Amino acid sequence: MKQPPFDHSLDPATPGDWQALRAQGHRMLDDMFDYLEHIRERPVWQPIPRAVRRAFDEPLPRQATSVEALHTAFLRDVVPFAVGNAHPGFMGWVQGGGTPVGMLAEMLAAGLNANLGGRDQMPLEVERQIVRWMRDLFGLPDTASGLFVTGTSVGNLIGVLVARAAALGADSRRTGIGDAAARLTAYTSAGAHGCIAQAMDLSGLGTDALRLIPMTADYRMDVGALVEAVAADRRAGRTPFLVAGTAGTVDVGAIDDLQALADVCRREQLWFHVDGAYGALAMLAPDLAPRLDGIGQADSIAFDFHKWGQVPYDAGFVLVRDGRRQLETFAADAAYLRRDTRGLSAGSPWPCDLGPDLSRGFRALKTWFTLKAYGTERLGRMISGTCALARGLAQRIEATPELELLAPVSLNIVCFRYRCASPDAVNAEIVTALQESGVAAPSTTVLNGHLAIRAAIVNHRTTAADLNALVEATVAIGHAITAAWRKAS
Ligand SMILES: *Cc1c(COP(=O)(O)O)cnc(C)c1O
Repeated sequence: MKQPPFDHSLDPATPGDWQALRAQGHRMLDDMFDYLEHIRERPVWQPIPRAVRRAFDEPLPRQATSVEALHTAFLRDVVPFAVGNAHPGFMGWVQGGGTPVGMLAEMLAAGLNANLGGRDQMPLEVERQIVRWMRDLFGLPDTASGLFVTGTSVGNLIGVLVARAAALGADSRRTGIGDAAARLTAYTSAGAHGCIAQAMDLSGLGTDALRLIPMTADYRMDVGALVEAVAADRRAGRTPFLVAGTAGTVDVGAIDDLQALADVCRREQLWFHVDGAYGALAMLAPDLAPRLDGIGQADSIAFDFHKWGQVPYDAGFVLVRDGRRQLETFAADAAYLRRDTRGLSAGSPWPCDLGPDLSRGFRALKTWFTLKAYGTERLGRMISGTCALARGLAQRIEATPELELLAPVSLNIVCFRYRCASPDAVNAEIVTALQESGVAAPSTTVLNGHLAIRAAIVNHRTTAADLNALVEATVAIGHAITAAWRKAS
C-alpha cells in the first residue's frame, strides 16, 4: 500500500532547514542576552504608539511567516513596549526582574515540553526537590505537601479551599458546602492583598464572611482586635475557621506578628494561612528571617518565586503543613491510591491530586536553576540589599525638604510624596510623568487617605544611582507641575 507523503510535522523538513533554524535560534538567544546586558540604556517603559498596537489587530494567519520576520516584529513591536519590570528603574507594584539563568532554564523546559500533571518522570522529582527545600526553609514537617501554581493569588485560593474542606469535612466536596458554610468566618488584615477576599468569593464563602481586622500604626494586623472579632463572631453563632496573616503587605511591606497569629490560631483552633507572596523569601536573608518567626507554624503558606526570588514569570508556590488535607481537598476519588507502582503510571500522588490543574508546565526547572545557580546565600544577600537600598532611599527623602515619607520603611517598600498644596493630584501627576519619562517607574497607593508615591525595590538590578535618579526626577517634575498649575490659576 502506498503511504501518503509525510508532510504534516511542524519540525524543519531537512538537515539544511534544521541548520537554518538553529542559526536563527542562536541569533534570538543573543538578542535577548543583548537586551538584558544593555537594559539600563533603555527607557523603563514607554507608551505604545497606536500603529504598533494596530499591528496586532490582524486576521488569523492562514499562511506561514518566517521565524526571522516574526522575531524582527517581536524586537520592534513588543520588546520596547513591555512593562519594564526587568529594568533597574522599575519600582512599581511588586514585580521581580528575572535573570538570564532563569531565561535559559525556561527555554530548556519549553524544549522538553514536559507536562507535570503526573506520571513517573524526572521533572516531577525536580518539583519534589523544591517542595523538600521549601519545607526545610520554612520549618514545616516531612508530611507537608507543596505545589507550583501560577501565583500567590491561586496559592491563597488553594489555602482557603483546603481550610474550607478541613472545616466542613471532605464530604462537602460531594454534597456542596451547604448551611454550615454560611456560618464560616475568616480574618485578615485591612492591609491584606485583595486576592484573599477574591479567594473567599471563589470558594463560595463570600467576601462578607471575611473580617478585615484593623492595623496598628506600623501597618500590622492588630492582634487584640483579631481576638475580639473572633469572640464576637462566636457569640453571634458564627464559626471562625481561618486567619490569613501577611508576610510583606503590598502597600508598605509590613509583616504581621506571625508568632502571635499562630498562638491565636492554636488557642482558637483556626487554620493559619500565611500570604507570603513576596515577603516569605526573606527567609533566605539571615538579617530578615527572624522577622518571620512563627511562619513555621502555619497550616499553609503561599508565596511567589517570581517576585523577590527573581524567577521568570510565572512561579507561584503553595505549601500545606498536613499534606493529607491537600489530597483530601483535590484528589479525585482517591484515584491516587489506585495508580500503578510500575510503568509511567507510578509515583503517586501526583501534582494533579494537590490542586485544580491537570496539565501543568515545568515551572520547577527555572526555579531549580535559579536556586542552584545563585545559591541561597547570594539570593539572601540580594534580598537584604534591596532592603538596604530602601532604607537609603528613605534617608535621602528625609534629607530632601521637598519630599516627605508617608510610612515607616519595614522592608523594601518606600512610600513618600512631594510636598505641595493639593498633594494627591500633584503626586498622581508626578507618578504618571515619571513613568512617561522612562527614568523610573514607581506606582501609587493610598495610605490613611493620602496618595503616596510607592517605590518597591524588588529588582536585583536596582542600584543607589537608580534611586537618586528617582528622587531627582520627582523633585524636578514636582517643581514643574506646581509652577505650571500656579501659572494656570
Ligand atoms: C503579589 C501579591 C499577591 C498576588 O500574587 P500573584 O503572584 O500576583 O498572584 C498576593 N499577596 C501579596 C502580599 C502580594 O504581594
